[in-house]
Order: sequence, then C-alpha cells, then structure tokens
Amino acid sequence: MVLQFPSKRAAIYNDIPEDKWNDWRWQLSHRLNSVDDFGPIIPLTDSECKALNSQGLFRVDITPYFASLINPDDPDDPIRRQVIPRAEEIVPFTGMMEDSLAEDRHSPVPGLVHRYPDRVLMLVTTQCASYCRYCTRSRIVGDPMANFSRNEFDMQIEYLKKTPQVRDVLLSGGDPLTMAPKVLEELLTRLRDIPHIEIIRIGTRVPVFMPMRITDELCDMLEKFHPLWMNIHVNHPNEITQELADACDKLLRAGIPLGNQAVLLAGINDCVHIQRKLVQDLIRMRVRPYYLYQCDLVDGAGHFRTPVAKGIEIIEGLRGHTSGFAVPTFIVDAPGGGGKIPVMPNYQISASDHKVVLRNYEGFITTYEEPLEYKAHDPNTCSFCLSKRLEPGQEGVMGLLEGEDLFIKPVGFDELHDRGGGMHRLRADQDKWKPLGIGPVSK
Ligand SMILES: *Cc1c(COP(=O)(O)O)cnc(C)c1O
Repeated sequence: MVLQFPSKRAAIYNDIPEDKWNDWRWQLSHRLNSVDDFGPIIPLTDSECKALNSQGLFRVDITPYFASLINPDDPDDPIRRQVIPRAEEIVPFTGMMEDSLAEDRHSPVPGLVHRYPDRVLMLVTTQCASYCRYCTRSRIVGDPMANFSRNEFDMQIEYLKKTPQVRDVLLSGGDPLTMAPKVLEELLTRLRDIPHIEIIRIGTRVPVFMPMRITDELCDMLEKFHPLWMNIHVNHPNEITQELADACDKLLRAGIPLGNQAVLLAGINDCVHIQRKLVQDLIRMRVRPYYLYQCDLVDGAGHFRTPVAKGIEIIEGLRGHTSGFAVPTFIVDAPGGGGKIPVMPNYQISASDHKVVLRNYEGFITTYEEPLEYKAHDPNTCSFCLSKRLEPGQEGVMGLLEGEDLFIKPVGFDELHDRGGGMHRLRADQDKWKPLGIGPVSK
C-alpha cells in the first residue's frame, strides 16, 4: 500500500526548480528569519513583529519547506506558533530558569550529560534546521558563533572510554543531522570503537523540518552503525506530510527503529483529539510514539505551558481508546535535575491482602484475585540477580525493594532530628536501625 499524506509548498516557491527545493543545502541557505523574509509568505501579527524586532531573542530560522506547512491566514496555526516568536516569549514567568533540568551540573565534560546510570546524553552541535520557540536548551542552542570544538569531542570520547557503565549514548544538541556528514560519521565511528557502548541513539527534528536531508547516502552511512535508534519530534498532525513519510520510510528501510517525542504545548496540541490523530498518523508511518513531555520551565516558553493534568487527560483519552503501542508515556522532566518522571491516570482503585481492584478506560471496575501461595523468586539462586550491578548512589527505590537500603532521606534529616538522645543506648547509632534477623540479599 502506498501511503498518502498531504504535501504543500507556499505559492512564492512555485517557481523553484525541483532539484533545488529537494536539496537540503538550498533549504538551509534559504531559511526565513526576519520580518522582511516572512512578509511575502505569512502576514505577521503585531506581536510577532514586536518579538522579531526585539534584542536578545532566541534564534529564529525556518526552512522554506516547514514554513510552507503554515496556513498564512491563521494567526494561531499550530506550526506557526512553534517556530515564529510572539511578544509573550520575552515575558518572564514564575519558575522560569535558564537550565531548568540542571544539565550543566550533570556534565562531567562540556556537552556530555551523565544523569542516569547506564546512558548519557551527548550534545554534539548547537545548530538546528529550524528553531522551536519552547526549546529546552535555548541557553546553548542557536548561537552561530559557538559550537563544540574538536577538543571537546575528544574529552567526551575520553570520558566514555573510561566509564564502562555507559551502554547507551544519545546524540542530541542542537540537531546531530545538521552536522557535516563526515564529522557525524567520524563521531559515530569513534563511539562504535568503544566496546561497552551497546546502542547509539539520535534525537533529531531534521526529518520534520527538512525531510530532503534524509538521502540514500545518509541512510547508507547510518546503517553502518547498528544498533542505531532514532527519535524524531512531531507535535501536530499538520507536520505529517508525504515528504516526512518518505524520509521515515528510508530510515526504517535502513533498519533504524523510529520513535517520536512530542511536547505538550498550549494552543498547539493540548487536545485529546489532536493527540489521537497525531499518534495514529505516526504509527501509520511506523513511528512509535515514545514520550509526550510536559513543557519545561525554560526562559521563553512560559506561554506554551499547560497544567500537568492536561497530559493526564490526554493519556486517559488514548489508553484503551486506540492501539496500545500508539500511546506515549507522559513525562515531567523534573526541574532541578531529577530527570524524567512518568505521570499517568490511576488504574488501581483499591487492594486487599489477596485482591486488587482495577478500572479500565471505560470505567469498568474489576477484581484480580491474587495467588494465596506464591513461592517468592529466590535472588540467591538466580544468576541474573547474583551478577546484578546497581550503580552506587543510584539504586533508588529499587534499592529499597532489594534490601540495599532501608530508607531514603532528605539532606539534613539527621541533623534536624538529632535532639541529643541516643547516647544511653548500647548499640552504635549506625547499627541501631538495621533489622535484626533479615538482612540485605546475600551476595
Ligand atoms: C532523556 C535523557 C536520557 C534518555 O532517557 P530515556 O528515558 O532512556 O529515553 C538520557 N540522559 C539525559 C540527560 C536525558 O535527559
């Protein structure tokens, strides 16, 4: 079956020859970024003109391909709002931060964010094909003068070589697919030379902003670095075109599994029905919805934020209502660097010692009878348990379940609760609260 999706080109580009239009270099060098550039394509509002003429604005640049998807007569067009700034963008808001995810604090070397035990985020460029107004990394992205240096790449690679717990490297930025192909290939080669790196991932919006960049040559190059996974970034069904579907098909034929990371944005996709159409169109292209993010508390993004409950409402409207693998996980990326936290509706209503009460998406309430006799899994005879390796300090709540720790407490807890007692006890303070008889899993 040949998939049919719409394809659009703004009238002023009608005379551009096909070979130019389909050349990603032409798209990059004809990007729109000023009141004058937009004039002939999209009549700008006062708010947009004001923003475009203001100082210190986060970089604006839009490929002619992506600009063509905007309905010029609609000031609230969902694509327009993602890439053309409005005056609200320059208004500060409560909770706003420059680096809301504290990525810089988690960086052992510039551009490498090591937040989770077994994987890292590697920022490989500051450049994108177009710039999203709600960019979570606007503090580093977009500056045409500042990019990562050869020396910084060397430091990133050195860190990875000496950090064997990293088995998954996620290339992002900026957008890795805007890099010179030779530079990207060299980077991938150097990563593949590190034996403990099992998988490489690329996070990119290039297929959405500039699908013509996904050439056969690029796919032939990427294919050499399997297992390679890719996440794209589509927020609204209007971004799904024949060009995007063809680019995804090429990547998939090169064996690259595709996921989608969307951001929940006020006035753009904060609607169950838009989201349902989005995920259904994505899976028609064989792109699996991966995450739906709550908008970060980042400078310039205040007017895009929704209540967190909007995300829960959207998941409520997807789970059960459409294909299970079309449902993304809704994520709040914790301000202050706590990382990604999934949030979802509650499906468990109650429980007893042998029964749970659950509800489905229709409100049907059921009971699941649990076994009265369950022979517990024995970690002492399981080879996987015996060879497990939790990252010290990052065992988390799982560490509590496995008996590595008895509690997790806030910083300053002991000092606050030290009322001077305890000296009369016989046992040393650090042993007093250990359970007598049941210890941690023996190793
Ligand atoms: C999102 C992210 C990852 C990858 O998270 P997954 O849940 O594995 O997709 C890794 N490192 C950082 C710093 C991230 O923000």
